[in-house]
Amino acid sequence: MENPLRVPLGLLKEKGELVLEATIEPERLNPFVEQARLVGPVSVALRARWSQDRAWISGRASGRWEMECCRCLARQRSSYGVPIEAEVEDPGAEIDALEETRQALLLAVPTRSYCRADCKGLCPSCGANRNETDCRCPAPPKRPPTLTRRGHA
Ligand SMILES: [Zn+2]
Ligand SMILES: [Zn+2]
Repeated sequence: MENPLRVPLGLLKEKGELVLEATIEPERLNPFVEQARLVGPVSVALRARWSQDRAWISGRASGRWEMECCRCLARQRSSYGVPIEAEVEDPGAEIDALEETRQALLLAVPTRSYCRADCKGLCPSCGANRNETDCRCPAPPKRPPTLTRRGHA
């Protein structure tokens, strides 16, 4: 498959600056990370520069992704706009801005995502989604703060 974000270094050196715009199918970047999946195309708008014997890439990737709520495991979709700033040292014969895009997206994935701020999560007893149903399980007893033993072994 042709990679529209691949630039021959010779061309960039000659021009000094190139504008790269592409719509990337999510399959090019999925599988992504466990808690997020890209859905729909990724719009990438980048500027590549050759300066101080280095290639520089800056711009933005935007699209939609799907994440799993860390409390209730519901999957929800949202939009993202991720800045891309990269300095490509020793790029070899060509620059692969697709790889830089992938890296920027990976860094932008939140480690914990919630379907909503007040998500009630799943019942630890019966597994019911407490956002949707009141399962009437007794509330778990409030445990005193765990005593951690600090070691004089
Ligand atoms: Zn949730
Ligand atoms: Zn329950």
